[in-house]
Amino acid sequence: MSTDKDASVDAGEVGILNAPLGPAPEGIPTALRDREAWVCWHVGCRNCHTTVEYGVETCPECGEDTSKIPDDPTSGRYASSTDSATWTRFEAALAYHEREHTDTEGVGYVFTEDGPFVGVDLDNCRDPETGDLDPWAADAIERCASYAAVSSSGTGIHILAVGELPEGGNRSGNVEMYEDARYFALTGVHIDGTPEEPQSAQDAIDVYSLYGGLTRATGSLLRGDVDLLALGAAVQGRWCVGVRRPRFCRSHTRDPSVGVTLTPIPCCAG
Ligand SMILES: [Zn+2]
Repeated sequence: MSTDKDASVDAGEVGILNAPLGPAPEGIPTALRDREAWVCWHVGCRNCHTTVEYGVETCPECGEDTSKIPDDPTSGRYASSTDSATWTRFEAALAYHEREHTDTEGVGYVFTEDGPFVGVDLDNCRDPETGDLDPWAADAIERCASYAAVSSSGTGIHILAVGELPEGGNRSGNVEMYEDARYFALTGVHIDGTPEEPQSAQDAIDVYSLYGGLTRATGSLLRGDVDLLALGAAVQGRWCVGVRRPRFCRSHTRDPSVGVTLTPIPCCAG
């Protein structure tokens, strides 16, 4: 691999498209580094075990799609996001990644059932050259009010929050959430203005889960589709999603002057 492992990335630095961002260890929350749930990762083919350069999407040997494959920093073999024997401490994963002969692209954090964290994955929402975010992603970051970082491609965002996913509710449009049996390739390229450690974001997680059945509800909401807001409240019968105003909740009337802030509030119907 030609990846320059010595290249470090400062928080907020513009993404480089032919190499993954990070890892920037100082930008990774202590609460995550303290858990023994770290792997490394490389891009490769699970079918024929070929390792490819970062950014190569098709295996040159067999034509299968490549993926980000987790590596066990202790054995050097494939890791599994469901086998804790293949995970290690953050420092050990970082040291393995930084070794000359390893083909890894970065480090990854594994979400586990006994851990308190939920990972929120926002795909294709960031311009890697300017750092500009799509409005729906900026809203998600604001609403979760937790630690957020740029994804390895520079085109997405990872939010790490404290919370629990409701049963079966893990995705809504562009937003995917994980709390178990999954890892995030973490860059440590922290989003300015977000907390440095994961914070509780249960309300936001609940909203995304509840709206999972409404295709692209989040995007529509953010374009100010107030009818969809009302529909969502009616469908779910548990939350009003809109403004933090009791008046809105009691009457289900809509006040165009208040805008759409996507704050979950307990609904009179619940
Ligand atoms: Zn292959």
